[in-house]
Amino acid sequence: MTRKEFLKMAAAPTALAAMPIGAAVGASLAHADLLDASAPSGGTITLENGHFSLSLSAHHGLRCRITHVPTNTLLADGTYSYSLAPVDFTSIKHDKTSVTLRGETGTGITIQHRFTLDPERPWIEEALALTNASSHPLTIAFRCGFVLPIRPDSLKGYTFTAVPYRREPHGNRSQYADYTLDQVLYEPRRSSLREIPTIVNEAPRFVQPRVFTDDYLSEGWVLTDGRNGFLITKYSQTAREFTILDSVPVSGGQIGLRWGGAGEFDDAEGSYRLAPGATHNFGITRLTPFQGDYVQGYYAFRSEMESRGHAIPDSYDPPSHWNELYDNKLWWSGDHISADNRRKFYRLADLKEAAAKARDMGCEALYLDPGWDTPQSSKIWGEERLGKLGDFIAMLKNEYGLKLSVHSPLSAWTGPGCDTIPGTALIRQPNGDSSPYACGASTRYIEETVSRLKSLADAGVAFFMFDGTAWMGECWARDHGHAYPSTAAEHVESTNRIARLAHKNNPDVLIEMHDQLFGGIHLRYVPSYYGHGLNAAGELGWNEIWAFELMWSPMDDLVGGHSIALYYFNLAYSIPAYVHIDLRKDNPQCLMLWWNISTCRHLGVGGTHPDETVRKSQKDVIATYRRLKPFFTTGTFYGIDELTHVHVDRKRTGAVINCFNLDNNPVDREIKFAPATFGLATSKTYLFTGGRFTQTGDAYTGKVTVPAQGHALIEVT
Ligand SMILES: [Zn+2]
Repeated sequence: MTRKEFLKMAAAPTALAAMPIGAAVGASLAHADLLDASAPSGGTITLENGHFSLSLSAHHGLRCRITHVPTNTLLADGTYSYSLAPVDFTSIKHDKTSVTLRGETGTGITIQHRFTLDPERPWIEEALALTNASSHPLTIAFRCGFVLPIRPDSLKGYTFTAVPYRREPHGNRSQYADYTLDQVLYEPRRSSLREIPTIVNEAPRFVQPRVFTDDYLSEGWVLTDGRNGFLITKYSQTAREFTILDSVPVSGGQIGLRWGGAGEFDDAEGSYRLAPGATHNFGITRLTPFQGDYVQGYYAFRSEMESRGHAIPDSYDPPSHWNELYDNKLWWSGDHISADNRRKFYRLADLKEAAAKARDMGCEALYLDPGWDTPQSSKIWGEERLGKLGDFIAMLKNEYGLKLSVHSPLSAWTGPGCDTIPGTALIRQPNGDSSPYACGASTRYIEETVSRLKSLADAGVAFFMFDGTAWMGECWARDHGHAYPSTAAEHVESTNRIARLAHKNNPDVLIEMHDQLFGGIHLRYVPSYYGHGLNAAGELGWNEIWAFELMWSPMDDLVGGHSIALYYFNLAYSIPAYVHIDLRKDNPQCLMLWWNISTCRHLGVGGTHPDETVRKSQKDVIATYRRLKPFFTTGTFYGIDELTHVHVDRKRTGAVINCFNLDNNPVDREIKFAPATFGLATSKTYLFTGGRFTQTGDAYTGKVTVPAQGHALIEVT
């Protein structure tokens, strides 16, 4: 069954009519202590903290009511929606902070459903597991969630905003992922975050990702009326899950908003193919209250993600890159794979020239894009052309004061003329015909790739870019150590695994990860945090996310609004974005360079601008960037608005404010700077350079003139 068919079925009245209603909500027994701790019961269990009240009544089906106590806002009421209905709950266990239900579905699947409301925490959490209790494999389409029956006053004035992609990397300056309740209930969503990528390639690539452009799926959703808000998140590091909003019919001809719970979003991934006895644990749903507008909701999301390990270590100090690509004759020859072109255009002398440019621009590392490894994508240093790797790294350090960073593409950047690790070819058909591409989920591919990365990092390479991460389709090999055929999920997991294994060998090497299913394009499929940082086993994953391929025409991307996706990403995540932009596209105000300094914690640049004056300005900007680097790398990012960014350093000594103007005339912008809003002490008197500010009470107000298509820098000390 496809997802659409499943949703249609789940939305049909019969799916819910089969679920009898338990004890009436409202006849609350007031507190959990009154109930027997293990027997099924139609009575009501109520958990409360100062923020939420959660009442549950489970027997033949589950009834559930959630109220936000301070505002008396109803968020769920009535029958909890399970697509595998009816659920007979045979066990209810509870204590002062949680309720755990176990139920039978009559399909061979048993459910464990746990709700947590800790008085010490402001949120409600929900966790769910499905177990195949039958003696045969089962493939399950599944969706469940809290239901809020919609009445005229339900969530009145609330806007639903997607996190972190309020602006999608494909979106223009008028695209916002903000929706009314009616839109969520009645309109298909128009999102381009997961469009099928257009891939122009002579060889068919068999990339068949699912698209979800109609659905209200997001890493998180912020609901706010501007004063009070709620953040709903879904978090899992073992399967790609999203926070889903949809609707279901409820009794009395009403419609209900369904949220939380869990849902299958991609049957191609195989998350719900359960072997006998196997259990699938869905990610945690969390509902957190906050006060204020969507920006405060984004900060709540960021805070939650930091608490889950997606924070920046104090030691994070990524070397600013000079990428030789933009001046690189090999790349622009149109055939970077050709051995002849490599001998002609990618010699030691060419790289020394690039290193000199890196040093002159004030960068800290030379980043090598395609051309260095031999053959392409082998991750084996081209010693014949470039000399020994150790000598090269020593030369960079001693003669140019630079580190070495490299492009290290994975299984999708293979094919004719590229490296093939024996025994790892992607088998496209059950007949066993092999393709020229590599299978990223092959055990041998992973082992050999990790081994080659180790050789590079052992020699002193400081950074790997994991490009070439796109899923190339199912593989029908029987001896690759994956399912038959392989799944997209296995590809994603294998890609993350390479990062973890590489870090096991070389914990200090920085690893940037492209989207593990789509690769290097303006799209996101995998949740942005997926595989980042430490996992439950203490293994370190990748460090930096790819800045959505906004590298080729950075000025168009900024003025066109696509790069504003990076602003929202930084409001939502502390995970560093990495980019290397083409400086040839910048203007005399260095607007583009400043934007990327402000939104990408790891900065890369390249390309020699034809205008010497601009080159000089860019050099000055890089010098300023280096002086203020801790604000941008490990500092906290705040948004006054899309074009006014505040960076506070970790020691909270002050702030840097970047003001941008994307329009063709200069603007005078009034900026209100309240130190407490940005986590700064109010006891101190702050000095401002770059604008005139006056203090009134606990805030400073200033006027800043920002040049046409330009930038203004304000330093607060
Ligand atoms: Zn394979």
